[in-house]
Amino acid sequence: MRIGAIEAGGTKFVCGIGDEEGKIEEKVSFPTEQPEQTLESIIEYFRDRHVDAIGIGSFGPINIDRTSRYYGYVTTTPKKGWSGYPFLKKLESEFKVPYGWDTDVNAAAFGEATWGAAKGLDSCVYYTVGTGIGMGVYTEGRLIHGLVHPEGGHILTRRHPDDRFNGLCPYHDHCLEGMASGPALEMRWNRKSEQLPQDHEAWEIEAFYIAQGVTAAILMLSPKRIILGGGVMKQKHLFPLIHVNVQKNLNGYVNASEIVNHIEDYIVAPLLGDNAGLCGAVALGLQALLEAQK
Ligand code: ADP
Ligand code: ZN
Repeated sequence: MRIGAIEAGGTKFVCGIGDEEGKIEEKVSFPTEQPEQTLESIIEYFRDRHVDAIGIGSFGPINIDRTSRYYGYVTTTPKKGWSGYPFLKKLESEFKVPYGWDTDVNAAAFGEATWGAAKGLDSCVYYTVGTGIGMGVYTEGRLIHGLVHPEGGHILTRRHPDDRFNGLCPYHDHCLEGMASGPALEMRWNRKSEQLPQDHEAWEIEAFYIAQGVTAAILMLSPKRIILGGGVMKQKHLFPLIHVNVQKNLNGYVNASEIVNHIEDYIVAPLLGDNAGLCGAVALGLQALLEAQK
């Protein structure tokens, strides 16, 4: 089977081909331009590649409500030119194959659940900590959508006692994304997060905030694993700091051995690494193909 995959990001698009085992056979990447131009590059890439289905994990917000006439549209993104763009419809008019369509973070959660760090489990939460903070939720064997889609990056946080920063989210004071995304680190400390040394106080404060998102996910959704990906989480020393902060927050209340005794195996990095997004899109495409064959 040849599954086309699109990881649609606000900065770059990755297109590729994967198989039913999640193996990526090839991929290309190009910067996100205006929608028409970007679509042209995608269509050109897939034109002679003869895929059986296409899966798309997209930046958002997007419409994923199958009953809506705006299903497949990008909705209120501040990204210039993309707001109200009928992304999926444009592709559908070009290639007559089944389509999987979901948020980038739901795709990543699904990819990790199918082939990665949550393989064999029927639930996981995936947080990405990058340019923004997003949350994908997979539970009882399926992705959660709800009214719109979960927005776990915008939960309100308790302020760290040593932190004077108000956050950079235009909608909320001290929401998780506003306090802990890569750009928030950069604004607070006046340098790129990549350049902050490991022993900088920034990381304890960062872990304090991320742990609040993780704690909320544990309490609200009770996932069997939590996966933390995105650029900022490349700082692997954050993991033990987050583990300690989550334990402090829960204070033994959630009495599961996975958390109390083995938290390092419970809150983990993505196993699919840099292919997490693309593999997730393959998983969405594969699911759409299997559904169409029923
Ligand atoms: P995006 O969220 O746009 O898909 P990323 O997940 O790579 O992309 O996130 C980009 C953000 O992560 C930027 O703010 C960048 O400064 C930060 N970042 C990327 N790599 C690292 C790293 N190794 N250490 C710390 N921060 C990083
Ligand atoms: Zn916010």
